[in-house]
Amino acid sequence: MKYYSTNRIAPEVTLSDAVIKGLAPDKGLYMPERINPLPASFFERMQDMTLQEISFEVAKAFFGEDIPEADLKQIVYDTLQFDIPLVKVNEQIYSLELYHGPTCAFKDVGARFMARLLSYFVKQHPSTKGNVHVLVATSGDTGSAVANGFLGVPGIDVTVLYPKGKVSEIQEKQFTTLGQNITALEVDGVFDDCQRLVKEAFMDKELNDKFFLTSANSINVARFLPQAFYYFYAYAQLKKAGKADNVVICVPSGNFGNICAGLFGAKMGLPVKRFIASNNANDIFFQYLADGHYNPRATQATLANAMDVGAPSNFARIVNLYGGGQQLKREITPEEAHEAICREISGATYNDEQIKKAMQSALKNDGYVCDPHGACGYQALVDGLRAGEVGVFLETAHPAKFKDTVEPIIGQKVEIPATLQKFMNGTKQSLPMSGEFADFKAFLMKNL
Ligand SMILES: *Cc1c(COP(=O)(O)O)cnc(C)c1O
Repeated sequence: MKYYSTNRIAPEVTLSDAVIKGLAPDKGLYMPERINPLPASFFERMQDMTLQEISFEVAKAFFGEDIPEADLKQIVYDTLQFDIPLVKVNEQIYSLELYHGPTCAFKDVGARFMARLLSYFVKQHPSTKGNVHVLVATSGDTGSAVANGFLGVPGIDVTVLYPKGKVSEIQEKQFTTLGQNITALEVDGVFDDCQRLVKEAFMDKELNDKFFLTSANSINVARFLPQAFYYFYAYAQLKKAGKADNVVICVPSGNFGNICAGLFGAKMGLPVKRFIASNNANDIFFQYLADGHYNPRATQATLANAMDVGAPSNFARIVNLYGGGQQLKREITPEEAHEAICREISGATYNDEQIKKAMQSALKNDGYVCDPHGACGYQALVDGLRAGEVGVFLETAHPAKFKDTVEPIIGQKVEIPATLQKFMNGTKQSLPMSGEFADFKAFLMKNL
């Protein structure tokens, strides 16, 4: 399978190159040239399959041409060493709890898969000389999932950049206490500054001549594609419960990698009626749906901080998926792409006051504790489901990751799972970094 860049200037590459490079040389995001549909027989028996079995079938459709079946199976099964249960919240609403992995957030799935795939390719790829450096910008959960996914993996070093004072202590501890091959940089700025530093590093000739740099942000195909797995598993669980006729999936969205994987699932034949992308106050995508104009802007800090993104990277992928990218594969205009997107995705947006109310009413009306991100998903279903529809929202992180925010809002204690408690006992080790690229570059030249 070849991978093309959303900017359509850089040449197509193999899966191995797309995974190792992360971002295309023309700054575009890689996309698979084809999306293989899954056979009817798969959909007929999926309700009797395990998470690993379903995921392996989906993985073969993506990666089966490039990785021998036995290796791919091992990568998929190693990645998914935890369950992703679909929990009934009320008659019409279900929560897909993506927080049962090692760092209690959905990014564990993509990060663990990518670590294993990258390690597989690094061994085979002569140009890496057996060593790659992963640079990752995080607004909270990416850093912890990636750092833990890659911890101790031979031939790979990880540098995590995070905005000073903008992540919770419990998040920070998950990537600053690990040591070994993981380094944490505390950047004087916001998430977009971290992302800018990383992007500039990938474009810097001197750095790239000297080191083999790659990204583990949701732009990497090895991170975002595996997120399709659990959309199929959610559907299978609904089918088992006899509630799969009019399924609406609602995704609390920031960089739009997660929902993009769901849209790929739909293109592979997953019978989802429609998607809802729920934003916090950073409602760039919501505005795009409303008027067809994509206007990235400065990030605004909110209670749902992992969704504080002012320029969602995967927007380019969504536009390409619907055929409206630069140099179109199919000749359609941006207006037609907008129309096609609006047919399958609707939007929602919640400010902090509304997020608080959503968390309170989820508890009061349905006895369910949401984290601030999941609350945006829950509320969009409460507000947007039509008669006869069944809604699934992606509960993207455990509420205990945002304990200090959640407890005063819902007026009750949130228990910390043992996996998180273990991090809290560690000691923070991070290095301060300015938002200037020259400083970041000097650090990399000296320390990698
Ligand atoms: C990263 C994250 C999101 C946003 O996911 P995207 O793929 O960036 O849209 C939502 N919730 C939580 C808890 C996250 O960590």
